[in-house]
Amino acid sequence: MRKRIVAGNWKMNKSFFEAEELIADIADALEEMELDNREVVVCPPYVYLEMATDIAEESRIRVGAQNVNDHESGAFTGEISAPMLKSMEVDYCIIGHSERRKYYAEDNAFLKRKVDTALAHDLKPIFCCGEVLPEREAEQHFKVVKTQMEESLFHLPADLFLQVVIAYEPVWAIGTGVNATPEQAQEMHGYIRGLIAEKYTPDIAETTSILYGGSCNAKNARELFAQKDVDGGLIGGASLKAEEFIQIVKSL
Ligand code: PEP
Repeated sequence: MRKRIVAGNWKMNKSFFEAEELIADIADALEEMELDNREVVVCPPYVYLEMATDIAEESRIRVGAQNVNDHESGAFTGEISAPMLKSMEVDYCIIGHSERRKYYAEDNAFLKRKVDTALAHDLKPIFCCGEVLPEREAEQHFKVVKTQMEESLFHLPADLFLQVVIAYEPVWAIGTGVNATPEQAQEMHGYIRGLIAEKYTPDIAETTSILYGGSCNAKNARELFAQKDVDGGLIGGASLKAEEFIQIVKSL
């Protein structure tokens, strides 16, 4: 059975004390819950990871980074490597978020190198893919997502691909308050699962968790997560309030 995951992407938000309070509140709420095959991940800014992993150690929260460098070490001022993250007990890292694609010109070939470095150090990528609005309007969204998968992920051998979580995040839905409809999400998630089945095997496709991201919140999560190929969500804005984030976890 594939894992169902809710992951919070805090982006560049929160002071240290606010971040500590948020993760502690999430940890407290999870203590009362049966998680079964559900996993809860928080992705705070780098500088809060140590605090987050300390709290997470005592709880059932998993911690992810929002980014990782494509090199293992060296003269890359200001950057953070996969071995550093692993040495801090970080389990996941977001790779290919549309904000990094847009503001830092990260393309599919570059993201492929990040995926490789992360996996070489046992960090699980949460790999984001998705189209911008003009691409959807031009009915190019399937082609765009297929190319992102092919150019950044499909070189992986099956055992490594199995470590990857996919997040379908239509860029027009991120931070806009306009989520994909459950039908639009299911259509793309089913398509992605089909691509994986074709490239690898139907079993591997069935095992891969595919999350939806883009204005997912406590109101719409249940309907989105009810779609058969939607295995949870990557949550931005709505992950910044413990109560709302927990409501989303409960919708899984
Ligand atoms: C995101 O940035 O990954 C995201 C899904 O953001 P939001 O939920 O705010 O749309």
